Amino acid sequence: MNTITHWVDGKPFAGTSDKTSPVTNPATGQVTGELALATVEDARVVIDSATAAFPAWRDTSLSKRTAILFNFRELLNAKKGELAEIITAEHGKVLSDALGEISRGQEVVEFACGIPHLLKGGFTENASTGVDVFSLRQPLGPVGIISPFNFPAMVPMWFFPIAIAAGNTVVLKPSEKDPTASIWIAELWKEAGLPDGVFNVLQGDKTAVDELLENRNIKSISFVGSTPIAQYVYATGTSHGKRVQALGGAKNHAIVLPDADLDLAADAMVNAGFGSAGERCMAISALVAVGDIADELVAKIAERTTPLKTGDGTRGADMGPLVTKAHRDKVASYVDAGEESGATIVVDGRTVKADGDGASEATGIRPAEGFWLGPTLIDHVTPEMSIYTDEIFGPVLSVVRVDTYDEALQLINDNPYGNGTAIFTNDGGAARRFQNEVEVGMIGINVPIPVPMAYYSFGGWKNSLFGDTHAHGTEGVHFFTRAKAVTSRWLDPSHGGINLGFPEND
Ligand code: NAD
Repeated sequence: MNTITHWVDGKPFAGTSDKTSPVTNPATGQVTGELALATVEDARVVIDSATAAFPAWRDTSLSKRTAILFNFRELLNAKKGELAEIITAEHGKVLSDALGEISRGQEVVEFACGIPHLLKGGFTENASTGVDVFSLRQPLGPVGIISPFNFPAMVPMWFFPIAIAAGNTVVLKPSEKDPTASIWIAELWKEAGLPDGVFNVLQGDKTAVDELLENRNIKSISFVGSTPIAQYVYATGTSHGKRVQALGGAKNHAIVLPDADLDLAADAMVNAGFGSAGERCMAISALVAVGDIADELVAKIAERTTPLKTGDGTRGADMGPLVTKAHRDKVASYVDAGEESGATIVVDGRTVKADGDGASEATGIRPAEGFWLGPTLIDHVTPEMSIYTDEIFGPVLSVVRVDTYDEALQLINDNPYGNGTAIFTNDGGAARRFQNEVEVGMIGINVPIPVPMAYYSFGGWKNSLFGDTHAHGTEGVHFFTRAKAVTSRWLDPSHGGINLGFPEND
């Protein structure tokens, strides 16, 4: 049995806890690892390592820091196949998708290589006679990153490249479901020349999270996960005086207007609805068909969905399993509930035959025991059904039919989530109106999963983000630094003089 540990001071740390959590390969149902869950004392050991490493790292020159970032980028690029295999083995997503998430994370590393430019402050000469004013941004200290299961590499990489480049030290608390990627990344940092203690991994559950939220040495928290936990993390972290960005869940709608290219829209719905088995915070789970196109659009989506191959992510399938059996069963129960409340199941993933159901003999892989649910398309969904109201986080695309653009917009703006959305249309005026009126943080126009590039910032509105700073881009640089404004005068001290009034410019 593979034991997965913490990473402290540049090496594995077993911790003192006898509490463990199983790690499973979702394509076989087999337990492949045992994860050490931190005690409070273990968490403190990890935080102490980040605290001790901070002063020297903060004072390391920008050129030395960026040289290490460039090394990390090169190593990641060269070895990403290894990381993709680790992700597929614990998450279940297909290998090409695992590689895709690494590439999107790598973009943030590349952005952070430009940190000298991003940290440049302002300078005003002679703001008052003989007085100069300038601003600078400094790192916060040890920072905490708490990540979800669905992107074990990309989501941590939204944060740690910028945090480290800006001079902070990091404690990453990955998801218990797929923790091995974090240790692979820690080893890569070591190979890249990062000093020990700058990047640490704390494995664990609520105990570990609570210590990060409460420990006074941790200066900020970057959280990504479900909305109830994001809310808890935001409230607890801020009440302990920390800067917190807490990204929550999602229910992303795509509107298809009657003038849209329906083939393009159907392709996009299949890709965005079923990619990564719908376990993406930017997945489209609600398709809002406007006007009389619904029958034709649903037929086009069904035609593209039926041939999709669900199976082991290492063996050329289009879509892998769900992350755990419990999650698979929960998603399937939403489909049952939708059917019971009168929605029409157009493509039913509950009966999927993974890998053709028989491919196991030669390979030793046992698809029958994987956590399978095939792509599922449900039509005539109405806004009060649980399949519409809840974040399902599975390969389930619900179709809601409305008559007008205004009704479609209202549905989205009434939804408590506001992560991503998309509009499909050939009418530039309608698209422009939508981008102006919709209350969502990330908008695609004929683009189904509008994840911004690393030099823009990622984040939703409403219950999809607590705090006011989005991830990466210049907002990320601001989050991981704090500002100082310096007012200086270099004059002969005899020019001082007594004046108790508030300083004015002269
Ligand atoms: P989750 O909320 O269950 O877990 C996220 C993290 O919180 C994990 O590290 C977990 O160990 C920790 N955690 C879980 N329960 C906790 C508790 N009671 N107290 C303290 N910490 C706790 O989320 P998940 O199931 O791993 O990930 C899926 C969710 O993440 C979905 O809701 C998805 O929409 C969301 N997500 C959002 C974004 C975004 O950008 N907004 C991105 C990715 C995922």
